[in-house]
Amino acid sequence: MTTEYDVIVIGAGVVGPCIATALARQGRSVLIIERDWSRPDRIVGELMQPAGVKALKELGMINAINDINAIDCTGYYIQYYNDHVTIEYPFKDVAQVTNPVRPLGKEYKLRSDSSIDVTKWDNDERVRGIAFHHGDFLQNLRSICKNEPNVTAIEGTVIKLVRECNDTVVGVSGKLQKDENFQHRAKLVISCDGIYSKFRSALGEDNVPSIGSYFVGFYLEDAKLPAPNKGHVLLGDHAPVLIYQVSPGETRVLCAFRSTKPPSAARNEIYNYLQKEVLPVIPKELYPAFKIAVEKKKFRVMPNQYLSAKKQNQRGLILLGDSLNMRHPLTGGGMTVGLNDAVLLARLLDPKSVEDLDDYDLVQEKLTIFHRKRKNLDAVINTLSIALYSLFAADKKPLKILQRGCFKYFERGGDCVDGPIGLLSGVLPFPMLLFNHFFSVAFYSIYLNFIDRGVLFPLAIWEAIEVLFTAIVIFTPYLWTELVQ
Ligand SMILES: Cc1cc2nc3c(=O)[nH]c(=O)nc-3n(C[C@H](O)[C@H](O)[C@H](O)COP(=O)(O)OP(=O)(O)OC[C@H]3O[C@@H](n4cnc5c(N)ncnc54)[C@H](O)[C@@H]3O)c2cc1C
Repeated sequence: MTTEYDVIVIGAGVVGPCIATALARQGRSVLIIERDWSRPDRIVGELMQPAGVKALKELGMINAINDINAIDCTGYYIQYYNDHVTIEYPFKDVAQVTNPVRPLGKEYKLRSDSSIDVTKWDNDERVRGIAFHHGDFLQNLRSICKNEPNVTAIEGTVIKLVRECNDTVVGVSGKLQKDENFQHRAKLVISCDGIYSKFRSALGEDNVPSIGSYFVGFYLEDAKLPAPNKGHVLLGDHAPVLIYQVSPGETRVLCAFRSTKPPSAARNEIYNYLQKEVLPVIPKELYPAFKIAVEKKKFRVMPNQYLSAKKQNQRGLILLGDSLNMRHPLTGGGMTVGLNDAVLLARLLDPKSVEDLDDYDLVQEKLTIFHRKRKNLDAVINTLSIALYSLFAADKKPLKILQRGCFKYFERGGDCVDGPIGLLSGVLPFPMLLFNHFFSVAFYSIYLNFIDRGVLFPLAIWEAIEVLFTAIVIFTPYLWTELVQ
C-alpha cells in the first residue's frame, strides 16, 4: 500500500487539533481521526495558564478562545482557614524577557467579543490566563483545524497501530461509526489520545500512570466570587477546593478527594464529604450557590494521574499531550504543557529541517532534542503540581506545618509570590527556581514552627527534622524523574 498522508493524528482533544493545524500549515498532508467530534461535556481543561495562552498565540490559534463566553483570569485567591491572600500573574515584561512569544507562522490576533475586552488585555501590565467551557474551546480548536486545506478529518476509533519491518509504525487501523473497518497509512503517526491512552504502552509496558487522588466536579450557577477573575483555592482541614468562573453564569468547582479509589456514589460518599467538610468553609458570598449545587448532587468524578514523559524511540510514532505525560490538575497545567509541546514539535519538524517525515533517523534526532528542550517547562509544572497537592491536601503534622508555611510565605509578597506564580503560570520555566522556592518554604515553615513552639524547643527540633524529611520525599523524587528520565 502507498503512504496516503504525511501525518496521522489520533485524537482531536486539546493537543491533536493544534499539532495537526501546525503541521498542515507547514505544508504537510494531515489526517486527524477522532472517535467523537460532537461537543464533549467533561470536567477537565477549563483554566488555561498564561503560558498556554502564549502557546495558542504561537500556534496562530488564539481565536479559539473567542466567542465562547470565556472569562479572563488574572491570578489566584488563596483562602487558608479564615485568612486569604491574592496573587497576581507575572508582569508582561518578565514574560517577554524569560519566555517571549515566537509565532510559528502568521500571527493571529485575539478579538474583543461579548466577554473578552482586548483593550483590557493590551493595557494590562500583567499576563492573563483564561477560563472557559472545555467543550466550547475544543469545538473552536477543531473547527480551526478542519478548515485547514491540508487537513482531512474523519470520525472513527483507532484500534491498532499498523507496523512493518523493524517494528516501524506506518499507519493505523480501526472502526468507523457504522462498524466499518478502516486502515490508513502515513509517514508519521502522532498519538494525542489523552488520559486513557491506548498507545502509550508503545514506550514500554511499565509506561502506566499512577492515580494519586480524585477530583469531584460540579457547576455553580450565578455564584458570587470573593475575587472575580481569579482562580480560587480553598485550603483547610479538607483536601483543596478549586473554584473558577468559566462563563458569565457558571463557575466550576473541583473538590479534591483524598483517595486512590473513586468515591462511592451508592454510599453518598461525595455528598457527605461536601456537606460535612467543605460547605462549612465556603466563603459567605459563594455559600448560597454552593449549597444549592451540593443539594443537586450532580457530581462528576475524574482521577488525578501522574505520568512522567519517557524518551520516545518508536520509529514512526510520537506521543503528545496526556498520552505522553500527566500531572496533578490542581495547578491547571495540562493544556499548557501539551500546547507548548505542540509548538516545540512543530518547530523541530519544520520541513526546512526535516524534508521528509520518513527520514526516521533524522526524526529520531529531533525527538531527542524535543525530549531535552521540553524538560524545563514540563519539570516545573509537573513537579509543582504534585508538590503543591501534597501540601494543600495535608493530612499529617509535617505536611500541615509545610502547608501553613507555604501560605505564610505567600503572605510575605514580593519574591515570595512573584517566583511561585511565575512558575505556576509557566512564565518562569526554571527547575532550579522551583527548587529554591520549595525549600525556602520548607525552611520558613520550620522557622515559624520554632517561634510557635517557644519553650517546647526540643519538640520543634524533632518536628524540623520531620518537616525537612517530608519536604525532600514529596519533592525531590519527582523533580529528579522529570529532569533525568
Ligand atoms: C479533573 C481534571 C481537571 C483538569 N483541569 C485542567 C485545567 O483546568 N487546565 C489545564 O490546563 N489542564 C487541566 N487538566 C488536564 C487537561 O485536561 C489535559 O492535559 C488535556 O486535556 C490533554 O489534552 P490531550 O489532547 O492530550 O487529551 P484529551 O483532551 O483528553 O483528548 C484526547 C482525544 O482523543 C480522543 N481519542 C482517544 N482515544 C482515541 C482513539 N482510539 N481513536 C480516536 N480518538 C481517540 C478522545 O475522544 C479525545 O477527544 C485537567 C485534567 C483533569 C483530570
